Amino acid sequence: MSMHKLEDLVARDRDHECEGVGASRVCVRVVGVADLPTRFGHFRIVAFWNNRDVKEHVAIVHGDVQGEAHVATRMHSECLTGDVLGSLRCDCRDQLIMGLKRIASEPCGVVLYLRQEGRGIGLINKIRAYSLQDQGLDTVEANLALGFRDDERDYAIAAHMLKSLAIRSVRLMTNNPKKVGELTKHGVEVSGRIPHVIPPNEHNRFYLETKANRSGHWIDFSGKPHLQEQGDAVMIEGANQQGQSDE
Ligand SMILES: [Zn+2]
Ligand SMILES: [Zn+2]
Repeated sequence: MSMHKLEDLVARDRDHECEGVGASRVCVRVVGVADLPTRFGHFRIVAFWNNRDVKEHVAIVHGDVQGEAHVATRMHSECLTGDVLGSLRCDCRDQLIMGLKRIASEPCGVVLYLRQEGRGIGLINKIRAYSLQDQGLDTVEANLALGFRDDERDYAIAAHMLKSLAIRSVRLMTNNPKKVGELTKHGVEVSGRIPHVIPPNEHNRFYLETKANRSGHWIDFSGKPHLQEQGDAVMIEGANQQGQSDE
């Protein structure tokens, strides 16, 4: 595979239009590709335009994925508070870092960074939901306030992004079999699943120093229940697996 093949997708997609994916018939175009060295490995970042909203979704690609089968794939939903600020109210940052590291360790792979803060309700609404939780809402109520529900459009965008990258089949990095079903429904061949398991290390200090309460929710250092904003809980090798949620 040519080193510059990903970059060629911008020209390929310039006039791309298709019937779209999913109920919302979302269609995406590759509009930019750049090198992205990171502390977790060397990647290229691929920017997508879509015909449904102004959100700028990106794929973080390791190695040559085009035309490949069984490509290690992680879908990550944007979380400003977790990913960037290191919030302990959720485990998004740990999951993102683990995803990037795992993908970097594979011959090739991709992290789809989906701009759906708070499961698509947006940053302001997510912070309002946090506020309700601060005022005493229980975790279930907070989950509802956070918009924890199926959003097929997200999987549809992800499915088209994978198609745009000419990925033939994916091994999906998730502990939630439902995600596999949703991608399959949108025409992505899921040839396998990579359990979302991390060995104990400096990056999961959060998990190792927390304990699960009787409802199985992780509690953060400030005593607040830990919300599963990524839709699947992470598993720690050799640690209490109670945090594994079926959501
Ligand atoms: Zn399209
Ligand atoms: Zn989060």
